[in-house]
Formats: sequence, structure tokens, C-alpha cells
Amino acid sequence: MTQTHDNLIGGQWVAGASYSPNINPSNLLDVIGDYTQASAEQLDAAVQAARAAFPAWSTSGIQARADALDKIGTEILARREELGTLLAREEGKTRLEGIGEATRAGNIFKFFAGECLRLTGEVVPSVRPGIGVEITREPVGVIGIITPWNFPMAIPSWKIAPALAYGNCVVMKPADLVPGCAWALAEIISRSGIPAGVFNLVMGRGSVIGDPLVNHPGVDAISFTGSQGVGARIARQCAVTLKKIQLEMGGKNPQVILDDADLAQAVELSVQSAFFSTGQRCTASSRLIVTEGIYPKFIEAMKARMATLKVGDALAAGIDIGPVSSLSQLEQDMSYVDIGKAEGALLVAGGERLKLPTDGFFMAPALLTDTTADMRINREEVFGPVASIIRVKDYEGALFETNNTPFGLAAGIATTSLKHASHFKRHSQAGMVMVKLPTAGVDYHVPFGGRKGSSYGPREQGRYAQEFFTIVKTAYTLP
Ligand code: NAD
Repeated sequence: MTQTHDNLIGGQWVAGASYSPNINPSNLLDVIGDYTQASAEQLDAAVQAARAAFPAWSTSGIQARADALDKIGTEILARREELGTLLAREEGKTRLEGIGEATRAGNIFKFFAGECLRLTGEVVPSVRPGIGVEITREPVGVIGIITPWNFPMAIPSWKIAPALAYGNCVVMKPADLVPGCAWALAEIISRSGIPAGVFNLVMGRGSVIGDPLVNHPGVDAISFTGSQGVGARIARQCAVTLKKIQLEMGGKNPQVILDDADLAQAVELSVQSAFFSTGQRCTASSRLIVTEGIYPKFIEAMKARMATLKVGDALAAGIDIGPVSSLSQLEQDMSYVDIGKAEGALLVAGGERLKLPTDGFFMAPALLTDTTADMRINREEVFGPVASIIRVKDYEGALFETNNTPFGLAAGIATTSLKHASHFKRHSQAGMVMVKLPTAGVDYHVPFGGRKGSSYGPREQGRYAQEFFTIVKTAYTLP
């Protein structure tokens, strides 16, 4: 018998219409648990519960909120190994990466526990003598949170924590592929001392639960992370109902390697950000843009490093890369390797499905060379362990290709030239820029987000999160 897991609605654990098994992508015989599927009526009940809880929570005082968030963060950090293992088991990143993500989630709650106490406003003189002007930030209301499968603990945390910190109530719908981490988080939140209805969890498919959450008149704002297609659809829907939105979407992140780069460093950061976490990071480097002087050496060194990578069960020791998270994602990854080859790219490493002792979705990381910017492999997000190399003449060509994309999440450069690094930081059209560091791997206390087709709306994380999770009020007083 596997354990069943229910929705959290108005402080009660509520069974949905059915249960779905949560399967370990490293071993398809391993069922992590059965997770309920909420109905549209239950979604409505969760929104009503959040609405009912909002007046008291939004005026409850900052100490109560700080205490609850601190308690949540403390428990996550204390249980980081267990939660990280659950994460690796259901999503497929390695156990070490899972523990890292759980740690990050705990730190995010701790950070926003402090932020509760740091929210400030402004008092400014009026242009009319004798009148006082106060500018304050207030909670927005009920926030609908919709999250993807690739960071099942960190992304929910960096949305839930600021939402609660600034006095909002939450209805959260996690990705249906990875309900385990969201449920574990909800269980911890349910014991943190926050009143019933302030935080609600509804599990289920995007079309069944996500869509009505976006369209619900009782929801004031939607914070979404996921694919560009779903994000754009949510933007259209929220334009009709005039909801506030924050959308974090896909990437096609460039990693530039200039002739003067330290070769070993350039290879290591490219391998890490292209292939670690199975390439399933929105900030993964999928386009390696290499100047011609270092191009042959870089390809040889990449092949040599890739030959040392160990793909295997996410929970096994000594593994660099776990499985792809689902069969449909694996099929998409493999199909993009074929699309690249059909477009004229050369597959120089990996790209095949691997047969390992357990039946899972394992794939050898793929490297394609001789690719050009117009190929689909360089324009569309693959979201797997597939990287392509674009050869350019010089820095100017590299910068052009960096920005030659509809996305703009992260961009990196490996160079020892201060001149080129400084110019790149200023002129790459991405929300996050890395010099001699992987494009994937960011701090939890500073803004996260992109430009162009990668992001829409205010930034996430750090102090900047208040832009989305609060609303500004200007008050005038005649004393
Ligand atoms: P997805 O868009 O398929 O799903 C994201 C979430 O939206 C899920 O919870 C899903 O159930 C829900 N959803 C689906 N259809 C919906 C609908 N009609 N209405 C409302 N909700 C709906 O994305 P995914 O496959 O889970 O995640 C991968 C994508 O997420 C990639 O594109 C990746 O780049 C992106 N991502 C972006 C960031 C970032 O911060 N920029 C971070 C992580 C992942």
C-alpha cells in the first residue's frame, strides 16, 4: 500500500476525486506515493478559504508572519537531507542537488521572515502646504501560485514565502509531475502557526485546476513559472480579468567562450550549466557560442570531460546526472537531437537513451557542433541535456549571437578580458549575466528573472519581490 496525500483546503486535508501515482524517474517500479487530484469545486473552496482568511492575516502584524516563516525555514533546513532525497526521488536531479535545493528553500523562508520586519514606506511633503503624504505598501490579496516540475521545492518557496511575508493568502497548484515536494512543504506550512485558509494546496492538472485558478474572480494575482506557451496564455486570460501577473518562463541561454578564456574553466562551467540537473534548468546553457581560435580545442576538451560524466539513479552515490524527469520530456530531448542532425548539425557526443540496471528515463548528455543560429535547436527550448555549439569569428560575433534569440533569461561569458566582460555585462540582453560562472546557479537573496520572452512582470526573490506581492497606497492627510 502506498501512502495517500490530500489537498490542503481551509486548514483541512481533503481527498480529491481520484489519486495519481508519483513515479520515480530513476526506477519506474518505485511509487513514491499516491497524490490526490483536486476537482474544480475544490479549487473554488480553496479560493473561498483564502478570501475568508485574508482580512485577519493581512492585518495580523509582522511578528506573527515573521515567526511562522522562520519556523517553516527552520524545519526545512533541519530536514534538508530527507526533503532533498524526496526531491531527487521524484524529480530526478541528484541527491546532492536535491539537498542543495531543499537548503535553498529553507534559506528563502528565513530570508523572508526577516523581510516581514523590514517593509518600509515613505513620508513626503505635499505640494499643498500643511498636508501630509504617506506612501505605504499593502498586501495584494489572494495569490494563485502555479509552478513547474524542475525546481519542485525552491520555486514554490520563492513564491509562497514573499506572498505570506507581505500579508497575502495563497492557493498553490504545483506541477502534477512532482506533487511530493509541494505536499511536504504544505504539511510543514500547515504546522507553522499560520491560520487555516491562509495557505491552500490543490493538486492536479493544469487544464483542470490551473486554468480555473487563473480565471477565478476571487484571485487577485497570479505568480507563474513554466513554459512560454502556458505563460502567454495566462497573460491573455489575466488581461481580461485585470489580475496582476508575474511570469517566469523558458530560456535558450548563451554561454560565450572567447579565445582568451581559461580552457579548463570554460569547459567545467559549460558542462555544469548545460548538463547538470539533466539540463532541466531554465537557466541552463543550451547554446555554447565559441570564437574560432579556441573552437577545436574547446570541442575536444568538452568531449573528454563529457566522457567522464556518470549518468545514473539520482539516489546513487557518485552520480553526476540523474534521469530525465518524464517519458514525454525524454522523447522531446531525443527528438531535438534528431531535429538538429536533420538540420545539418553534427552529434559529437551522447544523445542516446541509456539502459541501466533500473528502468528509468536515462539519457547520455548530447553535444551538437556545426550549428547555426537559425536552426530550431538554437531557437527553441529543449529543456534537457542537449547543448549546441555555434562558431563565431570574434567577440562582436559572439555578442550578436548572444542576443539573437527570442529569450533573455541568463547569459554567460568565459574570458580573461576585463574589457569584454564589462561590455558583455552591459550589452547582453538577459536578466542575469555571469562572468566566468555557469549560467545556472544563482543566489536566493537577489532578484531573479529575465527579459524578452523569458519573463513578464516584476522580478522574483530578494527585496524586489515586494514589487509583485504588495500594492502601493498613497494617503493624504490634512492634520
Ligand atoms: P508548463 O508550462 O507545462 O507547466 C507549468 C505549470 O503550469 C504546471 O503546474 C502546469 O500544470 C500548469 N499549467 C499547465 N497548463 C495550464 C493552464 N492552461 N492554465 C494554468 N496552469 C497550467 O511547464 P513545465 O513543463 O512544468 O516546466 C518547464 C518550463 O518551465 C520550461 O519552459 C522552463 O524553462 C520553465 N521554467 C522557468 C523558470 C524561470 O524562472 N524562468 C524556472 C523553472 C522553469
